[in-house]
Amino acid sequence: MTYPTPRPLSVLAVPAFKDNYLWLIHDGVHAAVVDPGDAAPVIAALAAHHLTLTAILLTHHHADHIGGVPELLAHARVPVYGPRAEAIATVGVPLAEGDLVEVPGLALALRVLEVPGHTLGHIAYLRERSGEHWLFCGDTLFAGGCGRLFEGTPEQMRASLARYLALPDDTAVYCAHEYTLSNLRFAAAAEPANALIAQRIATETAKRERGIPTLPSSIGLEKATNPFLRDRQPGIVANLIALGKLDPAAPPQASFAALRTWKNTF
Ligand code: ZN
Ligand code: FE
Repeated sequence: MTYPTPRPLSVLAVPAFKDNYLWLIHDGVHAAVVDPGDAAPVIAALAAHHLTLTAILLTHHHADHIGGVPELLAHARVPVYGPRAEAIATVGVPLAEGDLVEVPGLALALRVLEVPGHTLGHIAYLRERSGEHWLFCGDTLFAGGCGRLFEGTPEQMRASLARYLALPDDTAVYCAHEYTLSNLRFAAAAEPANALIAQRIATETAKRERGIPTLPSSIGLEKATNPFLRDRQPGIVANLIALGKLDPAAPPQASFAALRTWKNTF
């Protein structure tokens, strides 16, 4: 007996609000949505692409990531996956570190990483299929930046981002916001000698001018240009000290906190 080859998957960016992306993972027939803060653009995208919703995946409890869930459930009764450590009323399948989600309707398995910092229970979803590594990381890692520390400490966020550093460079990074250009302006200020940042600003600006998302990014690109993954690079540390934003006698972990504090008011 032979089985049909699973249909290949693709990922659609569904813009919402001012700068959110709701990610629709689909095979041309079925679709799962990540962080539907609003239902209307998801329902419109499903209709436009003739897709049937089979699952909802949530990374954390903020309204711009979960607000559309009740209306989507009224439209399609599908399982809702989300962090066990956060109180989200609509979550029917609570998830914790190491869980594997076999997404209904799709040939897609996602591993759960607990990545506290932005919120304490924040999770990310990782696809580890060889040749196709995908990371859905919500508001933890952004292109050129990282999420604000609403609930966690700088140490927690740094440890969460360190887990992403261990992923293959070709891992596609699907973050939840189009913050790339403002993040890269900060990156250039944090590490003025990094020529790759200036190059990336040109590339990403051209995408925005054509109305194209700058996402997904990749772990390799973030390693090269994201100050929050480069917080102990000598150039960044020396710059923080020269600008009076870091005590020269501070321990190494202080540079991440100094970057995050600086970015809050940049
Ligand atoms: Zn958030
Ligand atoms: Fe958000």
